[in-house]
Amino acid sequence: MEFKAIRGVEDILPPESLRFEKVVDAFKETVELYGFKEVILPIFEEAKLFSRSVGEATDIVQKEMYVFEDKGGRVIALRPEGTASAVRAYVEHGVFAKEPFTKWFYVGPMFRFERPQAGRKRQFFQAGCEVFGLKNPGTDAELIKMASEVLKRLKVEAELEINSIGCKKCRPNYRRALIEFLREKVDSLCPTCRERLERNPLRVLDCKEEGCQAVVGGAPKITDYLCDECREHYEKVKEYLNLLGVEFKENPLLVRGLDYYTKTVFEFKSSRLGAQSTVLAGGRYDDLVKEIGGPDTPALGFAMGIDRVLLLLPKEEEKREGVFVITRGEEAYRRGLKVAEFLRSKGIKAQIDHRQGSFKAQMKAADRERAAFAVIIGEEEVEGEFFSLKELETGKQERVESLEELLGRL
Ligand code: ATP
Ligand code: MG
Repeated sequence: MEFKAIRGVEDILPPESLRFEKVVDAFKETVELYGFKEVILPIFEEAKLFSRSVGEATDIVQKEMYVFEDKGGRVIALRPEGTASAVRAYVEHGVFAKEPFTKWFYVGPMFRFERPQAGRKRQFFQAGCEVFGLKNPGTDAELIKMASEVLKRLKVEAELEINSIGCKKCRPNYRRALIEFLREKVDSLCPTCRERLERNPLRVLDCKEEGCQAVVGGAPKITDYLCDECREHYEKVKEYLNLLGVEFKENPLLVRGLDYYTKTVFEFKSSRLGAQSTVLAGGRYDDLVKEIGGPDTPALGFAMGIDRVLLLLPKEEEKREGVFVITRGEEAYRRGLKVAEFLRSKGIKAQIDHRQGSFKAQMKAADRERAAFAVIIGEEEVEGEFFSLKELETGKQERVESLEELLGRL
């Protein structure tokens, strides 16, 4: 074959695309209940926006970004995530001056040059939420509750892990303690982590290599290093999560692959996903708006990996819906074309079998299309000016005299 999609960039064909829409609908319906509004953001941006916000030293910026120069000589990146653009838009349009707080959601493709495997693609889809202007811990708890409601609605089972990774004031102390601890165990670390040790030591906590995990088990815990403000915030988040009935596990080793997080971080993980276990992840990022040139504005958010949710979504038989029109002979076909159009004008999904094969073949097609009813028009029906209506689930067939009567029976 001459052309193939790029590796890690997959087509999503029906019926999978219908499941995709279902996930997006469940997400939108849930977050709209909490007052979130959609923001539609560009797919590419100045590359610098991402290196500044996601972090120069992160895997995403170092290894995974699709960067290119456009014909005007600008250095562009396909977005690897949504938060940076949301913050840029929030600052650029002075949204902070018009709204005391802002709740946005977005849905769309993201791009990362990673090794493709199950649950890891180079073009993948995220549905995410961002909240600006609220520092209260109740916001964190409500956002996490909302995320759990999205997954619950989709019947996706995942365990929630939370942590606090502190702030500019307290994290440097922890960082120092961690580097000191890791330096002594450097021989047991994987080559990547040896390199990370000085540059991005918190990422070592997250390494999947067995040797590193063994080391990290004994590492100092960030929660022992939090300043008063961060500790109180974390305690309150947990209190409100309990109040809202959200089950969670504290994981003091939980860190995220993006540098902008402060205080609360969280992940929903599923044991059914193997190594790529995280379906939804997020946290607070109180310093980012300022770093991007806006006023000091607390913020938080999360992103759900739609591709991974699709791997977890229970398989459900497609519901029967609408009408399939079956005809035999030119006169019947002409009548059928009009019946199908009439039904659509009334908001009823309708298809007609243009091939006009045998009745049996057409019935099979109706079943394959998961129609709820077949309207059958053969010679007899043309002659007597009626329709036969068959309910496909039960096989029950009846005679219908007019279009109005047909509508009433559906
Ligand atoms: P991971 O540790 O799994 O690589 P991450 O920390 O890079 O995740 P985030 O940047 O926080 O992930 O993205 C949020 C969610 O987006 C992830 O939890 C996951 O569900 C999804 N996601 C991230 N990268 C990919 C990818 N390459 N392919 C498919 N889904 C992805
Ligand atoms: Mg990643």
